[in-house]
Amino acid sequence: MKWDDVRTKYQQLNLFPPDPVSPDPRSPVTATWNAWHGCTKVSPGCMHCYMYRRDESVGKDPSVVNKTKSFSLPVSRLRTGAYTGRYKIPSGSHFHTCFSSDFFHADADRWRPAAWDMMRDRSDCTFFMITKRPERISDHLPSDWNDGWDHVRIAVTCENQWAADLRLPIYLNLPIRHKSVMVEPMLTAVDLRPYFRNYPGQIRLVSAGGESGPDARPCLYEWVVDLQRQCSEYGAAFSYHQTGARLIKDGKTYNIPRRYQHDQAHKAGLDISGG
Ligand code: SF4
Repeated sequence: MKWDDVRTKYQQLNLFPPDPVSPDPRSPVTATWNAWHGCTKVSPGCMHCYMYRRDESVGKDPSVVNKTKSFSLPVSRLRTGAYTGRYKIPSGSHFHTCFSSDFFHADADRWRPAAWDMMRDRSDCTFFMITKRPERISDHLPSDWNDGWDHVRIAVTCENQWAADLRLPIYLNLPIRHKSVMVEPMLTAVDLRPYFRNYPGQIRLVSAGGESGPDARPCLYEWVVDLQRQCSEYGAAFSYHQTGARLIKDGKTYNIPRRYQHDQAHKAGLDISGG
Protein backbone atom coordinates (compact mmCIF):
# COMPACT_ATOMS: atom_id res chain seq x y z
CA MET A 1 0.00 0.00 0.00
CA LYS A 2 1.35 3.41 -1.01
CA TRP A 3 1.74 6.18 1.57
CA ASP A 4 -1.18 8.18 0.04
CA ASP A 5 -3.44 5.13 0.38
CA VAL A 6 -2.40 4.65 3.97
CA ARG A 7 -3.07 8.27 4.73
CA THR A 8 -6.49 8.17 3.00
CA LYS A 9 -7.46 5.08 4.96
CA TYR A 10 -6.35 6.70 8.20
CA GLN A 11 -8.25 9.88 7.36
CA GLN A 12 -11.40 7.88 6.62
CA LEU A 13 -11.15 6.11 9.94
CA ASN A 14 -10.85 9.48 11.63
CA LEU A 15 -13.46 11.44 9.69
CA PHE A 16 -15.29 12.40 12.85
CA PRO A 17 -12.83 12.13 15.72
CA PRO A 18 -14.31 13.03 19.11
CA ASP A 19 -13.50 16.44 20.44
CA PRO A 20 -10.95 15.65 23.17
CA VAL A 21 -12.02 18.63 25.27
CA SER A 22 -15.78 17.92 25.33
CA PRO A 23 -17.13 16.16 28.47
CA ASP A 24 -15.78 12.63 28.74
CA PRO A 25 -18.65 10.14 28.35
CA ARG A 26 -16.65 7.25 29.82
CA SER A 27 -16.93 6.11 33.43
CA PRO A 28 -14.02 6.92 35.76
CA VAL A 29 -11.73 4.09 36.79
CA THR A 30 -9.19 3.38 39.51
CA ALA A 31 -5.77 3.14 37.88
CA THR A 32 -2.40 2.17 39.31
CA TRP A 33 0.32 4.55 38.20
CA ASN A 34 3.78 3.31 39.12
CA ALA A 35 5.90 6.02 37.52
CA TRP A 36 9.03 4.44 38.99
CA HIS A 37 9.76 1.10 40.59
CA GLY A 38 12.18 0.04 43.30
CA CYS A 39 12.93 1.40 46.75
CA THR A 40 15.19 1.16 49.79
CA LYS A 41 14.05 0.16 53.25
CA VAL A 42 13.84 2.92 55.84
CA SER A 43 12.02 1.54 58.88
CA PRO A 44 10.58 -1.60 60.53
CA GLY A 45 7.44 -1.43 58.40
CA CYS A 46 9.60 -2.13 55.34
CA MET A 47 10.92 -5.44 56.68
CA HIS A 48 8.56 -7.61 54.65
CA CYS A 49 7.83 -5.14 51.83
CA TYR A 50 5.66 -6.94 49.26
CA MET A 51 7.55 -5.27 46.39
CA TYR A 52 10.81 -6.74 47.70
CA ARG A 53 9.20 -10.18 48.01
CA ARG A 54 7.84 -10.04 44.49
CA ASP A 55 11.04 -8.74 42.84
CA GLU A 56 13.33 -11.14 44.70
CA SER A 57 11.14 -14.06 43.68
CA VAL A 58 11.99 -13.30 40.03
CA GLY A 59 15.67 -12.51 40.64
CA LYS A 60 15.30 -8.73 40.33
CA ASP A 61 17.08 -6.22 42.59
CA PRO A 62 14.26 -4.25 44.30
CA SER A 63 16.63 -1.61 45.67
CA VAL A 64 17.33 -0.16 42.21
CA VAL A 65 14.90 2.63 41.36
CA ASN A 66 13.96 2.76 37.67
CA LYS A 67 11.52 4.80 35.65
CA THR A 68 8.79 2.50 34.32
CA LYS A 69 7.22 2.08 30.89
CA SER A 70 3.98 3.52 32.24
CA PHE A 71 5.69 6.72 33.40
CA SER A 72 3.45 8.91 31.19
CA LEU A 73 0.21 7.01 31.87
CA PRO A 74 -1.83 9.99 33.17
CA VAL A 75 -1.27 11.97 29.96
CA SER A 76 -1.16 9.09 27.47
CA ARG A 77 -3.81 9.38 24.80
CA LEU A 78 -5.70 6.82 22.76
CA ARG A 79 -4.60 6.51 19.14
CA THR A 80 -7.38 4.31 17.83
CA GLY A 81 -11.02 3.53 18.51
CA ALA A 82 -14.08 5.58 19.35
CA TYR A 83 -12.23 7.75 21.85
CA THR A 84 -9.17 8.58 19.74
CA GLY A 85 -7.42 11.67 21.05
CA ARG A 86 -8.78 11.38 24.56
CA TYR A 87 -6.68 10.46 27.56
CA LYS A 88 -6.40 6.70 28.09
CA ILE A 89 -7.54 7.17 31.68
CA PRO A 90 -10.98 8.83 31.72
CA SER A 91 -11.75 12.08 33.42
CA GLY A 92 -12.73 11.74 37.08
CA SER A 93 -10.52 8.66 37.58
CA HIS A 94 -8.47 7.90 40.66
CA PHE A 95 -4.74 7.11 40.41
CA HIS A 96 -2.98 4.97 43.00
CA THR A 97 0.42 6.58 42.62
CA CYS A 98 3.82 4.97 43.16
CA PHE A 99 2.66 1.81 44.89
CA SER A 100 5.88 -0.08 44.04
CA SER A 101 8.24 2.65 45.28
CA ASP A 102 8.09 5.80 47.38
CA PHE A 103 7.19 8.96 45.45
CA PHE A 104 9.72 10.95 47.50
CA HIS A 105 12.63 8.51 47.15
CA ALA A 106 15.87 10.44 46.45
CA ASP A 107 16.71 8.30 43.43
CA ALA A 108 13.58 9.61 41.70
CA ASP A 109 14.40 13.31 42.13
CA ARG A 110 15.18 13.74 38.42
CA TRP A 111 11.80 12.33 37.28
CA ARG A 112 9.52 13.87 39.94
CA PRO A 113 9.14 17.34 38.30
CA ALA A 114 7.69 15.68 35.18
CA ALA A 115 5.39 13.59 37.36
CA TRP A 116 4.12 16.76 39.06
CA ASP A 117 3.55 18.29 35.60
CA MET A 118 1.36 15.34 34.65
CA MET A 119 -0.63 15.62 37.87
CA ARG A 120 -1.12 19.33 37.23
CA ASP A 121 -2.39 18.55 33.71
CA ARG A 122 -4.79 15.94 35.07
CA SER A 123 -6.50 18.01 37.72
CA ASP A 124 -9.70 16.35 36.48
CA CYS A 125 -8.53 13.20 38.32
CA THR A 126 -7.36 12.45 41.86
CA PHE A 127 -3.97 11.07 42.87
CA PHE A 128 -3.22 9.21 46.07
CA MET A 129 0.26 8.38 47.31
CA ILE A 130 1.72 7.02 50.55
CA THR A 131 5.18 7.93 51.80
CA LYS A 132 7.56 6.97 54.59
CA ARG A 133 9.73 9.97 53.73
CA PRO A 134 7.80 13.07 54.81
CA GLU A 135 11.09 14.84 55.56
CA ARG A 136 11.72 15.03 51.80
CA ILE A 137 8.35 16.46 50.83
CA SER A 138 8.74 20.19 51.39
CA ASP A 139 11.91 20.43 49.28
CA HIS A 140 10.34 18.48 46.42
CA LEU A 141 6.98 20.11 45.86
CA PRO A 142 6.22 22.01 42.64
CA SER A 143 6.65 25.79 42.77
CA ASP A 144 2.89 26.41 42.39
CA TRP A 145 1.90 23.96 45.11
CA ASN A 146 1.02 26.81 47.54
CA ASP A 147 -1.22 25.34 50.25
CA GLY A 148 -1.64 22.07 48.36
CA TRP A 149 -3.41 20.75 45.30
CA ASP A 150 -6.89 19.60 46.12
CA HIS A 151 -6.70 16.60 43.79
CA VAL A 152 -3.40 15.22 45.20
CA ARG A 153 -3.60 13.30 48.46
CA ILE A 154 -0.41 12.41 50.28
CA ALA A 155 -0.62 9.99 53.20
CA VAL A 156 2.12 9.05 55.64
CA THR A 157 2.82 5.60 57.08
CA CYS A 158 3.25 5.17 60.82
CA GLU A 159 3.66 1.48 61.48
CA ASN A 160 4.54 1.92 65.17
CA GLN A 161 4.82 4.65 67.81
CA TRP A 162 8.44 5.40 66.88
CA ALA A 163 7.46 6.10 63.27
CA ALA A 164 4.49 8.20 64.38
CA ASP A 165 6.66 10.32 66.66
CA LEU A 166 9.31 10.72 63.96
CA ARG A 167 7.07 11.44 60.96
CA LEU A 168 3.93 13.13 62.21
CA PRO A 169 5.55 16.33 63.55
CA ILE A 170 6.98 16.85 60.06
CA TYR A 171 3.99 15.68 58.06
CA LEU A 172 1.40 17.63 60.02
CA ASN A 173 3.26 20.88 59.39
CA LEU A 174 3.25 20.42 55.62
CA PRO A 175 0.86 22.19 53.22
CA ILE A 176 -1.10 19.12 52.20
CA ARG A 177 -4.83 18.96 51.80
CA HIS A 178 -6.59 15.75 52.84
CA LYS A 179 -4.00 14.42 55.28
CA SER A 180 -4.27 10.77 56.27
CA VAL A 181 -2.25 8.38 58.39
CA MET A 182 -1.70 4.75 57.42
CA VAL A 183 -0.96 2.54 60.42
CA GLU A 184 0.00 -0.42 58.30
CA PRO A 185 1.50 -2.89 58.88
CA MET A 186 0.44 -2.19 62.44
CA LEU A 187 3.34 -3.44 64.57
CA THR A 188 2.50 -1.92 67.97
CA ALA A 189 -0.24 0.06 69.62
CA VAL A 190 -0.09 3.64 68.29
CA ASP A 191 -1.22 6.65 70.29
CA LEU A 192 -2.24 9.46 67.96
CA ARG A 193 -4.00 11.50 70.65
CA PRO A 194 -1.14 14.05 71.02
CA TYR A 195 -1.30 14.70 67.27
CA PHE A 196 -5.07 14.98 67.18
CA ARG A 197 -4.82 17.45 70.06
CA ASN A 198 -1.88 19.51 68.79
CA TYR A 199 -2.95 19.62 65.14
CA PRO A 200 -6.74 19.88 65.37
CA GLY A 201 -8.64 18.92 62.24
CA GLN A 202 -5.51 17.97 60.31
CA ILE A 203 -5.76 14.19 60.34
CA ARG A 204 -8.90 13.46 58.36
CA LEU A 205 -8.50 9.70 58.00
CA VAL A 206 -6.63 6.91 59.77
CA SER A 207 -6.33 3.54 58.11
CA ALA A 208 -5.10 0.43 59.95
CA GLY A 209 -4.11 -3.02 58.80
CA GLY A 210 -1.95 -5.98 59.69
CA GLU A 211 0.99 -7.40 57.81
CA SER A 212 0.61 -9.86 54.95
CA GLY A 213 2.91 -12.60 53.71
CA PRO A 214 4.42 -15.81 55.04
CA ASP A 215 6.49 -14.14 57.79
CA ALA A 216 3.86 -11.63 58.87
CA ARG A 217 4.27 -10.15 62.33
CA PRO A 218 1.13 -10.37 64.45
CA CYS A 219 -1.32 -7.53 64.92
CA LEU A 220 -3.36 -7.35 68.11
CA TYR A 221 -7.01 -6.62 67.56
CA GLU A 222 -7.05 -4.48 70.71
CA TRP A 223 -4.55 -2.07 69.05
CA VAL A 224 -6.93 -1.62 66.15
CA VAL A 225 -9.92 -1.06 68.42
CA ASP A 226 -7.99 1.52 70.44
CA LEU A 227 -7.02 3.39 67.28
CA GLN A 228 -10.62 3.41 66.13
CA ARG A 229 -11.63 4.81 69.52
CA GLN A 230 -9.10 7.65 69.13
CA CYS A 231 -10.55 8.54 65.73
CA SER A 232 -14.03 8.47 67.14
CA GLU A 233 -12.98 10.79 69.99
CA TYR A 234 -11.47 13.34 67.61
CA GLY A 235 -13.93 13.10 64.72
CA ALA A 236 -11.58 11.51 62.18
CA ALA A 237 -12.63 8.82 59.72
CA PHE A 238 -11.29 5.33 60.37
CA SER A 239 -10.83 2.38 58.07
CA TYR A 240 -9.83 -1.11 59.19
CA HIS A 241 -8.30 -1.89 55.84
CA GLN A 242 -7.33 -5.53 56.29
CA THR A 243 -6.52 -7.94 59.11
CA GLY A 244 -3.10 -9.05 57.91
CA ALA A 245 -2.06 -12.69 57.93
CA ARG A 246 -1.73 -13.05 61.73
CA LEU A 247 -4.29 -11.52 64.02
CA ILE A 248 -4.42 -11.98 67.79
CA LYS A 249 -7.88 -11.50 69.24
CA ASP A 250 -8.91 -12.37 72.81
CA GLY A 251 -5.57 -14.17 73.28
CA LYS A 252 -6.09 -16.43 70.28
CA THR A 253 -3.96 -16.25 67.11
CA TYR A 254 -5.74 -16.42 63.78
CA ASN A 255 -3.82 -17.21 60.58
CA ILE A 256 -5.85 -15.56 57.89
CA PRO A 257 -5.35 -16.36 54.17
CA ARG A 258 -4.81 -13.36 51.95
CA ARG A 259 -8.17 -13.66 50.18
CA TYR A 260 -10.08 -13.21 53.47
CA GLN A 261 -8.05 -10.40 55.04
CA HIS A 262 -10.05 -7.46 53.63
CA ASP A 263 -13.36 -9.15 54.11
CA GLN A 264 -12.69 -10.11 57.72
CA ALA A 265 -11.57 -6.60 58.59
CA HIS A 266 -14.72 -5.19 57.03
CA LYS A 267 -16.84 -7.61 59.05
CA ALA A 268 -15.34 -6.24 62.28
CA GLY A 269 -17.57 -3.20 61.70
CA LEU A 270 -14.97 -0.71 62.96
CA ASP A 271 -15.06 1.71 60.02
CA ILE A 272 -16.30 5.20 60.76
CA SER A 273 -16.87 7.98 58.29
CA GLY A 274 -15.52 10.82 60.45
CA GLY A 275 -17.06 14.14 61.37
S1 SF4 B 1 9.09 2.57 51.70
FE1 SF4 B 1 7.45 1.22 50.95
S2 SF4 B 1 8.12 0.50 48.93
FE2 SF4 B 1 9.91 1.34 50.01
S3 SF4 B 1 10.87 -0.46 50.95
FE3 SF4 B 1 9.52 0.50 52.47
S4 SF4 B 1 7.58 -0.62 52.25
FE4 SF4 B 1 8.78 -1.04 50.41
